[in-house]
Amino acid sequence: EDDTGIRWDKTACRFCGTGCSVLVGVKDGRVVATQGDPDAPVNRGLNCIKGYFLTKIMYGQDRLTKPLLRKKNGAFAKDGDFEEVSWDEAFTVMADKWKAALKAKGPTSVGMFGSGQWTLWEGYAASKLIKGGFRSNNLDPNARHCMASAVGAFMRAFGIDEPMGCYDDLEHADAFVLWGANMAEMHPILWSRLTNTRLTKPGCEVHVLSTFENRCFELADNGIVFVPQTDLAITNYIANYIIQNEAYNKDFVENHVNFNKTATDIGYGLRPEHPLEQKAANPGKGKFEKVGFEEFARLVEPYTLDYTAELSGVPKDQLEKLARAYADPKKKVSSYWTMGFNQHSRGVWVNGNVYNIHLLMGKISEPGNGPFSLTGQPSACGTAREVGTFAHRLPADLVVGKDAHRAFAEKTWKLPEGTINPEVGFHAVLMHRKMKDGELNCYWQQCNNNMQAAANMNDESYPGWRNPDNFVTVSDPYPTVSAMAADLILPTAMWAEKEGAYGNAERRTQFWRQQVKAPGESRSDAWQTMEFAKYFTVEEVWPEELIAKMPEYRGKTLYDVLFANGQVDKFPYEGKIVDDRGNEYANDESEYFGYYVQKGLFEEYRLFNSAADIPKKGHEMAEFDAYHKNRGLRWPVINGKETLWRFRGGYDPHVEGDETVVRFYGNADGRANVIFAPYEPPAESPDDEFDLWLCTGRVLEHWHSGSMTRRVPELYRAVPDAVVYMNPKDARKRRLRDGSKVTVSTRRGELVTRVETRGRNRPPEGLVFVPWFDASRLVNKLTLDATDPLSKETDYKKCACKVEKA
Ligand code: SF4
Repeated sequence: EDDTGIRWDKTACRFCGTGCSVLVGVKDGRVVATQGDPDAPVNRGLNCIKGYFLTKIMYGQDRLTKPLLRKKNGAFAKDGDFEEVSWDEAFTVMADKWKAALKAKGPTSVGMFGSGQWTLWEGYAASKLIKGGFRSNNLDPNARHCMASAVGAFMRAFGIDEPMGCYDDLEHADAFVLWGANMAEMHPILWSRLTNTRLTKPGCEVHVLSTFENRCFELADNGIVFVPQTDLAITNYIANYIIQNEAYNKDFVENHVNFNKTATDIGYGLRPEHPLEQKAANPGKGKFEKVGFEEFARLVEPYTLDYTAELSGVPKDQLEKLARAYADPKKKVSSYWTMGFNQHSRGVWVNGNVYNIHLLMGKISEPGNGPFSLTGQPSACGTAREVGTFAHRLPADLVVGKDAHRAFAEKTWKLPEGTINPEVGFHAVLMHRKMKDGELNCYWQQCNNNMQAAANMNDESYPGWRNPDNFVTVSDPYPTVSAMAADLILPTAMWAEKEGAYGNAERRTQFWRQQVKAPGESRSDAWQTMEFAKYFTVEEVWPEELIAKMPEYRGKTLYDVLFANGQVDKFPYEGKIVDDRGNEYANDESEYFGYYVQKGLFEEYRLFNSAADIPKKGHEMAEFDAYHKNRGLRWPVINGKETLWRFRGGYDPHVEGDETVVRFYGNADGRANVIFAPYEPPAESPDDEFDLWLCTGRVLEHWHSGSMTRRVPELYRAVPDAVVYMNPKDARKRRLRDGSKVTVSTRRGELVTRVETRGRNRPPEGLVFVPWFDASRLVNKLTLDATDPLSKETDYKKCACKVEKA
């Protein structure tokens, strides 16, 4: 407590994947101040503008405090109006719907959509309830819209997920390459570290690639604007340049790399009947086969300077400058990317193409050298990826499709053999399609705003949510676009109103304590998930043959089996949490359930990465209590020591030897996969009628759909509306000027906004950019739901639109 009576404690920022540590100040039961944490290794006392206004995100005037159910004449009605109900009534109605769907159509009729904004234990509890309890794998996080392509490429190349490097690379590198990452606005604290290196290290270079000029171009030594989708060609050109100039690292390639080519007969992930779906012969398999170095060299050979410059629209000298940076053996190069690569109809390919470049040069897994996929969400890594909330995954990189992995999860969760469904569940886009088709009838969204976030909402999302056969529940602190489209809204505790943990983009796991009480009857997502499990007996959910394998579970609820199982509930709760300084904190979930809930869930999750017989090594975590004493640790953590660079001796405890030893141990042969993937055209391109590219994205001041940041007056006033950023020449051609009111339309929908020709984003002729944070201008009515068939991630970065005076 300081001399103003404010008690300070550490938390992790609620917003982006940077994972800044924030000091939170509490007085009289209210968060009254925040500041950048000076002891934080990530942000070193800084926050960005969103972080500085964290204080206000919990205190919007329309904060929800009671469950709301659509009712008519005293009973639930899909076309009724929202009325306040008790938690018991809310869960009773919801459970009746779920039971009816399960009885009629089985486990695939129910599903949940979560988030990389969930705390680790919220995601873990959801994974356990949906996969272990309801035996449905229809669980997916919004990370599917964010970094699923990165996951796919990591698994293909390295056999294990998440970046091998860490943020320390920002000080070690001699050259930075940003591929479709507007770091200045989306990861501002990392951008400040990068800027510091660029301005203080002699010879340091910054290369920025994007389909339009953004704020990063202000620092760029080589600012490259390319035609959408041609990043596939540019990456192959660099690989070709490296080989043609014999610059590749022969020793590294010989000892650590396999060369492959990918299957190319894949579609665009649209519904098969969609006219744009042309190549669905191999929908989503994406197999690759070994080809050898010579064949790989032959495959990239067509990507000459002339061909690539012509296709991409990038001047030759700029392409060569970029290739030279990678090919210079003395230059340490760090590559960063986010949504420009991931939200791509060939996202896995283009991620992999950058790995190809780093692997050819051996510039990987060492200080300053490495490819680094930046994540959007604060816990896209920790929650979405690590605790198993993807439709195909179980905790710690295990997958539902492998017998041994399911068996290990069932044993760890103390469930009968055969409980977990071996079929991959519906991914995010497929869930909406199945809801529209009436096959997925009960859908629970937590910590998310998917009605605003999902592409092509007029055709694919909204019809499913309002399908009379379906019952949709949304847990949220605010009445978002999603909440207002639901049948039941559950009020949710947020950020410092609960004890939490996030895992950031550099594998750093950070904890915080509950600082204040949530308003009214709001409850955390973990509480909601666990409490809902009490409304089902195993007999109502499991077939008799499964129960017969564990007869002691007869008559028990899913809560008893999954959470009060002697494992999750084994850590006593003393009525308060006390820190090293003697400060006391509440813990509402533990108070309610009678044991230290977060510790129990985390320690059970830790069995997936630390039990003696784990199927996959490399994800080790420290014990629960360790994380409350530090600003996070980067896994693998062994004997309390974190890992900065994976796959290299001297840094990674799984690799014996000194820093000259490299072993990509995620793959059985210890080698990484270079996989050739060609340029292919996008799903939709401008034509005579829809003559512009439409690209969507974010702005610095708002977090994703704006449900929190638009309730902060200062952030709202800073950027109140989503505008259409347009090149002045394109505006003039249409007799428009800065500020003109226009209709932006595609084949799927339209919105009205105003033109911005002089703002922070400066598109080239032929392309416009519209941010998606604005609930009153829903740009996802316009976007195309083409998805990468390998990662199932939607391409929000390119479709065809037109702009006309409104
Ligand atoms: Fe740091 Fe991101 Fe939070 Fe900004 S939004 S303070 S960069 S974690």
